[in-house]
Amino acid sequence: MPVQLKPKLFSPALVKSALSLSIISAICAASLNVAQAQTSAPSTEKVLNLYSARHYATDETLYATFTKTTGIKINRVDSDDAGIISRLKAEGSASPADLILLVDAARLTKADSEGLFQPIKSKLLDDSIPANLRSAATKDGVTWTGFSTRARVIVYDKAKVKKDDVDTYEELADPKNKGKVCTRSGSHPYNLSLFSTIIEHMGEAKTETFLKGMVDNMARAPKGGDTDQIKAVASGECGVALTNTYYVARMMRSTNPEDRATMEKVGIVFPNQSTWGTHMNIAGGAVAKYAKNRDNAILFMEYLASPFAQNHFANGNNEWPTVKGVTIDNTALKTMSGGAFKSETIPLTAVAKNQIKVQQMLDRVGYK
Ligand code: FE
Repeated sequence: MPVQLKPKLFSPALVKSALSLSIISAICAASLNVAQAQTSAPSTEKVLNLYSARHYATDETLYATFTKTTGIKINRVDSDDAGIISRLKAEGSASPADLILLVDAARLTKADSEGLFQPIKSKLLDDSIPANLRSAATKDGVTWTGFSTRARVIVYDKAKVKKDDVDTYEELADPKNKGKVCTRSGSHPYNLSLFSTIIEHMGEAKTETFLKGMVDNMARAPKGGDTDQIKAVASGECGVALTNTYYVARMMRSTNPEDRATMEKVGIVFPNQSTWGTHMNIAGGAVAKYAKNRDNAILFMEYLASPFAQNHFANGNNEWPTVKGVTIDNTALKTMSGGAFKSETIPLTAVAKNQIKVQQMLDRVGYK
């Protein structure tokens, strides 16, 4: 019977005292409960080749602690999500990548549908991460896993817009908000993910009507990133906009007086509290299709589920941990959400299922 890694392997106490190499070798060997990738011979090197779309200073501690604890050296390639996906495709079976970290469900599901990941089996991940924040399970296991969540919230101009008029996503398409709505591109992965889950809640026909209504309500053509939407609300150009929570948290924690002035003017709503809950997206990871250091990659994914790593991984970018029972102390997140809120719980596999449909709808309704 295969021996499973126990969650306590990466407890904060153990992380502090580096394990001996022989113990680690035994643990690595024991955790191999899945057939090796057929395409490449497994390596016994103590190396992990990581392609990461995360660029947060706190992640350095995370990587250093993994190396100190396991003796596995991390070679990191930093790029954005699109850069990583195209690099993996170009490298094909010659890719040195073992583990991929991306920051959005639409991108994770796209990379998965393009065959860039491989399934893994890990009892530790099965037990600790909610199934709705992972890829669908097949007989071979699960490909991607979410390690932190971010909410897609509504920001509004406190001087001009009533909170009650913008406390659901559906109201962004209501004629009462005509000329007020701003978003980044509808095709941006954050919006593709949101609209993909809205299809699950409202059905296709109503979702297309909703998207058309949003276009009719726009204050300007979609442009910029999420932070630009927050600033455009504060400047009065837009009455209401969509943003991920970590951009709000960054502005709240900023020492720049301009950012503070911006945040004075905008209100934040966690939408759909009385219905399906606020849309949650993920940052997550997967083992690369042609990983040579597959076991090290699985070990790293299991490490990311430890309370120690969850704290760094999520809090480093002002996000929430995905592991059940792990909490973080982040004042900005607490302040903006009031401590607790209702989050959407449907499987993020909806994004894999619906994102092409959403793109076609966006094209039909003229949502750029
Ligand atoms: Fe982002």
